[in-house]
Amino acid sequence: MVAFAVFGSTVAPVTTEIINTGSELLLGRVLNTHQQWLCRTLADRGRAVHRQVAVSDEPEALVAAVREGLSRADWVIVTGGLGPTCDDRTRDLVAGLLGRRLVHQPDVEVQIRAYFEGRGRPVPARTRVEAMVPEGAEVLVNRHGTAPGLALWLDSNPLRESGKPSWLVMLPGPPRELRPMFTDEVLPRLDARFPLREPFACRTLKTTGLGESYMEERLEEPLRDLVARGMDLGFCARVGEVDVRFVARGPDARDVVDEAERRTREAAGEFVFGVEDDTLEKALVEACARRGLHLALAESCTGGHVAHRITNVPGASNVFEAGWVTYANAAKERDLGVPAGLLREHGAVSEPVARAMAEGARLKAGVDIAIAITGIAGPSGAVEGKPVGTVFIAVAHAGATRVERRLNAFDRETFKYVTAQQAMAMALRVALGDGPADAGTRS
Ligand code: ATP
Repeated sequence: MVAFAVFGSTVAPVTTEIINTGSELLLGRVLNTHQQWLCRTLADRGRAVHRQVAVSDEPEALVAAVREGLSRADWVIVTGGLGPTCDDRTRDLVAGLLGRRLVHQPDVEVQIRAYFEGRGRPVPARTRVEAMVPEGAEVLVNRHGTAPGLALWLDSNPLRESGKPSWLVMLPGPPRELRPMFTDEVLPRLDARFPLREPFACRTLKTTGLGESYMEERLEEPLRDLVARGMDLGFCARVGEVDVRFVARGPDARDVVDEAERRTREAAGEFVFGVEDDTLEKALVEACARRGLHLALAESCTGGHVAHRITNVPGASNVFEAGWVTYANAAKERDLGVPAGLLREHGAVSEPVARAMAEGARLKAGVDIAIAITGIAGPSGAVEGKPVGTVFIAVAHAGATRVERRLNAFDRETFKYVTAQQAMAMALRVALGDGPADAGTRS
């Protein structure tokens, strides 16, 4: 796998460090999604993060991390510990470290009161500490909670040998508070304080149906001159998907990624299903909606996972008619009309049964496309010639049913996810009207 390019020498040299605080991060109780989200949000804007560390709520650990970060970096982001409870110490400890007094800000208290009163809840006495602001700090509005963020510009940073300035930004821990605050309050200030040295553009195309080395081979020639001119090209293989990412800098950065996208669509457009964070389920729902197609599902071993993901997409109701979870053979017979003889002769996990399930679901729901899935998730249940992980995926549409056999030998949850990816990719090809005729079998 070719990893996504790490930003190189042309990146604006704003040394950036992230400190994620919270003992729960080190106890493995909370996944550190701030680290990933902040790094990605910044990378997508041409900003590199140079170091990231997670520390506990212990005062010594937190102070040491902030001191160290400020001794090196132009910009230090601290997350967590701004709340009202006794283990929320960031505000006090940072103020202590920098020798700043905490000053009560009445307007912040008004906002906090308004937050509680708007929800008809009494204002807890302890939230008053959230209105205490280190001298000289800018308050970052929290529209989704009570603890405001804090930003301190240290004109001549006493902790830095060079005495260069540093910017210290403290953000609340809950993701639903941190993310909008970062986007709305921090990024505009960042661009004003540390403008990018040169224009930057990046784009990710989401693809399915072609492995990453084949994709790379296919794009090598069409993109060669753009890469030679400095565009970064990266491939990231995910389950059933490959991301193709372009990064360009310089006055024509936007034109370069536009051109890279155009050439990629020309060379491999049949595999491209979206951009940036698009998902297969979104692409499938949108493709069906565009063509006025309706969809049904007959799931066995995925237990409704495909239905769950399809219904996560806004607008699914325009295309999704019905889904069955037919786990038992009797249910496959009763609900989908799978012939008992077929089940007896070939077994529930077989090409003919997958086909009959899809065709039955399509008929019963009266839809254009039906997906059926039948397989052995394991760990037991293997039979001769059908090891654990064997799965048959069928997609039935007007007059044609395509069935593919896959081996997804994973734990049960991964099995469901991978199988759903494959099923939706197959259905997407049908919904787009360009399913390759040579893959799978057709009736
Ligand atoms: P609160 O007012 O809720 O106390 P806070 O600013 O003090 O906010 P923390 O107490 O550190 O923040 O964290 C609150 C919650 O936010 C945590 O219990 C956790 O669920 C979530 N959280 C904190 N840090 C992270 C992180 N790095 N990644 C993902 N979630 C996090």
